[in-house]
Amino acid sequence: MSDDLRAKLRASGHRLTPQRELILDAVDTLGHATPDEVLAEVRKTSSALNVSTVYRTLEVLEQLGLVRHAHLSDRAPTYHSVRDHEHFHLVCRNCHKVISVHPEVLEPTLTRLREEFAFVVDVGHLTVFGRCTDCNRDEPGDDE
Ligand SMILES: [Zn+2]
Ligand SMILES: [Zn+2]
Repeated sequence: MSDDLRAKLRASGHRLTPQRELILDAVDTLGHATPDEVLAEVRKTSSALNVSTVYRTLEVLEQLGLVRHAHLSDRAPTYHSVRDHEHFHLVCRNCHKVISVHPEVLEPTLTRLREEFAFVVDVGHLTVFGRCTDCNRDEPGDDE
């Protein structure tokens, strides 16, 4: 974690406890992770954590602006680090692969929503479900 971020946190009256840092690092390592997956990761180094601690800590980290969540399945939210560039998600319904896409791809749509609806999209929370290229190949005919 950068000194920048630490300074920012301190200035806003927040502290990154060792436990929070451990969980933040786990999210970083995993890329996209549900609370259960984060728990499995932090358990490798600390057995003192349980799933409700992980849930609570992820919520705190999100309030601090250090992680974001998106809904990549019908179950628990999936968290990702904000140290990545902002992105939205494509999720394959068939193989559950997650593809991170730069918001630029949506720019024409974002612009229209801004102009016609005065609506500003929360791109990092956006998930588009569908079928990935590998799964399309397996079942030709969908596109025809
Ligand atoms: Zn993501
Ligand atoms: Zn797929």
